[in-house]
Amino acid sequence: MHNSGETLATKSPNLTDHFNRIPKKLRLSITDRCNMHCVYCMPKTGIPLYPKNEILSYEEIQHLATIFAGLGVEKIRLTGGEPLVRPDIEKLIFALSNIAGIKTLGLTTNGLLLSKKAAQLKSAGLQSINLSIDTLNSDKFKSITGIDGLSQVLLSLQTARAQGFEIKINTVIIRGQNDDEIVDFAQFAIDQRCPVRFIEFMPLDGSHIWNQSLVVTKEEMIQRLNKSGFVLLPQNNPLSDPARLYSIQGQEGALGFIPSISESFCGACDRIRLTSDGKFLTCIFERPQNDVKKLLRLGKSDKEIADYLIECYQNKPQGLISLLEQKSLRSGLNLMNTIGG
Ligand code: SAM
Ligand code: SF4
Repeated sequence: MHNSGETLATKSPNLTDHFNRIPKKLRLSITDRCNMHCVYCMPKTGIPLYPKNEILSYEEIQHLATIFAGLGVEKIRLTGGEPLVRPDIEKLIFALSNIAGIKTLGLTTNGLLLSKKAAQLKSAGLQSINLSIDTLNSDKFKSITGIDGLSQVLLSLQTARAQGFEIKINTVIIRGQNDDEIVDFAQFAIDQRCPVRFIEFMPLDGSHIWNQSLVVTKEEMIQRLNKSGFVLLPQNNPLSDPARLYSIQGQEGALGFIPSISESFCGACDRIRLTSDGKFLTCIFERPQNDVKKLLRLGKSDKEIADYLIECYQNKPQGLISLLEQKSLRSGLNLMNTIGG
């Protein structure tokens, strides 16, 4: 039997790094597999996948999540690859939603399988969904994702709304691919009354296509929206939230921008990540090296695993700021299909 989260919380200090950042949010990538092949993430070929026996079982994920909760994590988001390709995900969601100290449980998905699963996910305890949609044009959807699936994803959006999930749309903007749709997405946010968050393209692409000229910055997006008559009013949201939020004057919708490249939010970062093969990432740009699964499978105690996590976290790198200073931003720095965003 492993310790409960509450027991660990009283025994162990919380995770803290040299910059006094304390993580509250854990991204659990539960698979590196995906049923889409987005051009900015995971090409159809050329990406080695983890052998199945290297992927954490649901019991192992639950065990590690309990240890993280004991170290102060309050929010968990399941991601991938595509998390919904993993069978019986609702069982994992139910188990995670019952961990002491976990206040919110979310999912990031491409939506292809969501309409079929939405009701089960809701009853299992899932609260929020980030749905990725990069284009509202069917042909372009096929060329970006490799799948003719826009209508299915839009159906999933409606089904998930009907289930009462809190939903946000994630849209990665890439120059020359979908930057002509920024205004359409703003209108979509208004019409659907569903926040759209524009994400700057990050060099975490398995396809190695990233270069700085493909990045459309938050400022450029806002200028384009202003030119089309949208007046954006900044909202106050916590610095630890990477999205800069805006309401749209005179309208119901809201927009967010995740300026991952143009405005580093590393100083207030409160996120940590666990890959599906059990590597603990203290920073999205850190190479996967902290092998927690190894300790777990060696039968180490919860206290030993917690101490290892604390030690790893103390050495969390400063983040994007230092990469920019070293001029070391380049394509494929990490693989987003293994980290999960
Ligand atoms: N398959 C799910 C999905 O697409 O929502 C979850 C995993 S995906 C890696 C998580 C998020 O990362 C998605 O919103 C996706 O658009 C985003 N993403 C993937 N590659 C990216 C990149 N190179 N730069 C910025 N965001 C990226
Ligand atoms: Fe799959 Fe999501 Fe990556 Fe697209 S962004 S290839 S849906 S993991």
